[in-house]
Order: sequence, then structure tokens, then C-alpha cells
Amino acid sequence: MSEECPIVEDLLPLYKKQMLQAPTILFVEQHLANCSHCQQLASSKQVLKEYIPMKKTLSFFHIIFIVLSFMFAINSSLLGNQLGFVISYAIFGCLSYLFYKNIWIVFIISSVPVFVWAIINNLNNELYITNYSFTELGALVMGAGYIALLHTIFALLGAAFAILLRSLRWVFIKS
Ligand SMILES: [Zn+2]
Repeated sequence: MSEECPIVEDLLPLYKKQMLQAPTILFVEQHLANCSHCQQLASSKQVLKEYIPMKKTLSFFHIIFIVLSFMFAINSSLLGNQLGFVISYAIFGCLSYLFYKNIWIVFIISSVPVFVWAIINNLNNELYITNYSFTELGALVMGAGYIALLHTIFALLGAAFAILLRSLRWVFIKS
């Protein structure tokens, strides 16, 4: 084994998935030509299994992201700072789209946390809830839905901006 071996071992899963850039591919292939240890490793199926921990790391980031979006929902008050709320939710929607590249996920993580927070927050508010009647709870759910919708509109505007950015980038690459 040489000093390069651990580096090549780390790169092999990405090499097999064809996710490396040309100079890195050249480096891996030059090493494989001279190293029987890494050749064996590259031909075994074990390498692809080692790819799984990376996926786990990714889903860990997803959980962090969802937790952050909940904290974000709790901290952003619709009535407190109007402009701050609009800008922060647009940025949030933009980043969420760039991260997930899926408009439905942007929709869900911008609406559900706010909706849940609005219900929890107002459930103990005597201004809205006095006797927990059907009408009061109905109004609470409607109100929460309305707040969630407002947040979601701005998040989706941010996502639309992200989509625009991505398509502009493709135009830029092609030209
Ligand atoms: Zn090697």
C-alpha cells in the first residue's frame, strides 16, 4: 500500500458512480494501474455498499433542515416584522428549492411547520380559545391555514426565483 491508497479508497465509491471530475478520474486510474490492492477493492462490490454511509449523512442534513425550518416558523412572526418576514421566507424558499430541487418539498416545509406552530401557539391564547368549542377550533384551523398559506406564497416566490437562477445557469453553461 502506498500513501495514495487511502485517498483512492475514499474516491472509489464516487469513481464507480461516475461522480468525479476528469483530473480526479485520471488520478484514480493511474493509481489503479499500479496498485493491486486498490484494483481488488475497485472490482469488489463492497465499494458500492460503502456509499450508503454518505446517503445517511445526507438524510441527517435533511432532518437538520426540517428542524431548522420549524425553528424558523416559530421565530418568524407575521405581525412583528412584515418586510423581514417576506424577505426571510422568500430566501428560505429559494434555499429549500436549491437544496431539494423539488417544489413540493418547498411547499410542505414552508406550510406545515407554520400551520402546526400557529395552532399550538393559539391553542393556549385566551383571545382565540375560551371554551374549545367546534366553532373556535374550526376558526383556529382556518386561521392557521391562512397564515401558512401566506408564508407558503412567499416561499414559493423564492423557489420560483431559484428555478429562474438554475435555468439561467444552464443557458450560461450552454452558450
Ligand atoms: Zn492503492
